[in-house]
This record gives sequence, structure tokens and C-alpha cells, in this order.
Amino acid sequence: MALMNENYLNLAGSYLFAEINRKVGAYLKSNPGADIIRLGIGDVTQPLAPAVVEAMVSASREMGSKDGFHGYGPEQGYEFLRSAIAEYDYRKRGIAVADDEIFVSDGSKSDVANFQELFSGDCSVAITDPVYPVYLDTNIMAGRSGVMNNGRYEKIVYLKCTAENGFIPAIPDCHVDMIYLCSPNNPTGTVLNREQLTRWVEYALAEKAVILFDSAYEAYIADADLPRSIYEIPGAEKVAVEFRSFSKTAGFTGTRCAYTVIPHTVMVSDGNGGLHELNQLWLRRQTTKFNGVPYVIQRAAAAVYSDEGRRQIKEQVAYYMENAAIIRNGLESMGWELYGGKNAPYIWLKLPEGELSMNFFDRLLTKAGVVGTPGVGFGPCGEGCFRLTAFGERNRTIEAIERIKLNM
Ligand code: PLP
Repeated sequence: MALMNENYLNLAGSYLFAEINRKVGAYLKSNPGADIIRLGIGDVTQPLAPAVVEAMVSASREMGSKDGFHGYGPEQGYEFLRSAIAEYDYRKRGIAVADDEIFVSDGSKSDVANFQELFSGDCSVAITDPVYPVYLDTNIMAGRSGVMNNGRYEKIVYLKCTAENGFIPAIPDCHVDMIYLCSPNNPTGTVLNREQLTRWVEYALAEKAVILFDSAYEAYIADADLPRSIYEIPGAEKVAVEFRSFSKTAGFTGTRCAYTVIPHTVMVSDGNGGLHELNQLWLRRQTTKFNGVPYVIQRAAAAVYSDEGRRQIKEQVAYYMENAAIIRNGLESMGWELYGGKNAPYIWLKLPEGELSMNFFDRLLTKAGVVGTPGVGFGPCGEGCFRLTAFGERNRTIEAIERIKLNM
């Protein structure tokens, strides 16, 4: 019989999310017709911007004409989109990124998950705790984690984020090869400032490590002093890869388009000390395993950079951030300890001492009919915390906060 990849046996089951669904189902069964408000999911609720839809329709028509038909496209993305990304998201902001340092894909989840395969199985990995679970799980699948011991994988370097350090990860006191940073952070909503990010870049330069920087939520940064790209930090172009997505910036969660920036200057070495560009390795990987994002979708993504598109996208982000302010103000008026929600669409609650996040989930569901996400689902340090998202509809967000104020 074929042998399995036994690394998969090291994965922890996603019991928590199954348990959440079970609890909501049970609640609805015993309270038929109950009106539950979901502030738990990380999916958006606003429709695509008109400029995006127009571009999609027009590109679909092109595809139906002899002259406008497009078959397989370049695996790394059409030039019109790569250049729009490099120009608007980087060069116009004073960051030198070349078009061929942009790789268009069907999502940051797949990019961030697949990218680790460019590194040796022996590389050591640092991951913040709590965090978006994909970084850890894909490294477990690749055999870099070792086995779980007392809730932690023996070979992973955990960067603990707690209320004591303001949910900002400290630099490790050991060497690591790969560092996953997510800023603005999912789930804590905290953002690394220029000084903190500079320390990470200096560490990576000194240790010859690579920073895998996930900035899927950069569009939510309102504070002009906070870095939106790691390449705002001098030296980052030698040590960092940046992952970005149209999902939360432009409502593309169901449309699927993202990109990864890999400067030619980010190098890894082979066993003999020979240097290799990550950019070229990823190009080789993508041309072998990926056949590109549909033409129609890339045209839709390019419309995000038109004058109309930029204005409409800004309004959408502002809509969600207004929700975030409603959640923050409501809960702050109750005296709750909160993080995030100012430069990120996530609000992270520090629960009263001793309360488990699953217990709070139960209380919030049964008393207020509101669903959120227990912090423990994002890592052991998430225990005692709880995530609410600003991605809901406005009136439902207002109602959720009213219910919480009334019943909690
Ligand atoms: N990175 C982070 C931090 C996320 O929270 C998410 C989605 O929730 C993603 C990446 C995935 O984005 P995409 O929809 O582009 O796959």
C-alpha cells in the first residue's frame, strides 16, 4: 500500500471550528428562528465595486470575441496588472519594485502556504502566537514542526504575543531561518510600527533569515506613520517577501486574486554556499505548478487601480472601519480591554482574568445571539481572548453591539 506523508499525522484537528458550528447548530435547534449575528468570520459582506464589475463584464465580452479571446496567460500574471500593482502600490509610494518582482496569484492563502516549499526541510521557523493558522499548518505538512508537546510543536519557535507585550512579537533570542510576520495582524488587529519592523529587518539581515511578511490587511492602515509595506524599511528588499491580496482590500474573497512581491535581491543558499534568487525559484515553481489567474479576474483586479476603482475601494474600506469604530466604542464604553480595530478590521478582546475563550463564545451566543471567534483557535496565546470582525453589515453590527450592551 502507498505510504502517506506522515507529517499530516502531526496536524492538530480543526476541532474548534467544528465545535463552533456544532454549538451554533445546537443553539438554533433549541431556539428555532433565533436571529444570530455573525461577527466571527473573516469574509467580507459588501458587493464588488462598480468599476471592478464593469471591468469584469467588459473582459468577459472580450473573451467571447475572436480577437479578444485569451487562453493560457503568463503564469506570473499579465503585464498590465503586474505593472499597475508595482506602480500604484509601490513606486508611487516611493518604493522601488520592478514589474517582474510581482507575481499574481489566486490568493494569499495559497501563496503563503506554498512559498515554504522553496526552503529546505531543515530550516527553522518562527511564527507568532496567536496568528492566521496557515503558516503553522503548512510547515507541519512539510515536516518542519516536529511533534506536539504540551500544546506546542517542538521545532517551531513561537513568538508569544500577549497583553503584556501589547500583542507585538519580540525578536527571538536564537537563530531562525524563516519568520512569518502578519501586520496588520489577524487575529489581534495590532500593527508593527516602523521601529519594530526595523528591528525585524535588522535581525533578518544579521541572521541571514527570510521574513515572510503577510500584509493582506494593509489597506486598513489609517495612521500615516505606520508602514504599509515592509519595503518602507531600508534593507528589507534583501530579506523580505511580501504577500498581499485583493480579498480584503477590494472584496475579492470569492473572486480570487492576490500577489506576492519577491525582490531580486532576496537570496537563499544551496548546500555548497551558492546563492539563488527566491524570485527565480518562485518563477520556476509557479510555471511548473500554476497556470495563472483568469484574464477576466486580472482585468477586474486592474480596475482597482483606476481613478474610479481607487475611490470606490477606499469607500469600502472606510465602511468596514466605521463598523470597527462602532464595535470599539461600544465595547470600550462597557470598560472592556480591546486591541486592534484602529488600523485593522479585527477587534481583539482581552477577556476577564480566568475566562476561557470558548466559555465567552457560549455566553455571547446564548445571551446576545452574537457569534465571534474564540482566541484559542489562533494559537495557545490566544486563550483568554476573543476576535470580532468589522466585515459585517452596518445595521447588524450596530444591533450586535446594542445586544451586547444590553445582555452581557
Ligand atoms: N493572510 C491573512 C492574514 C488572512 O487573514 C487571510 C484570509 O483571511 C489570507 C491571507 C488569505 O487571503 P486570500 O483570500 O487572498 O487567500
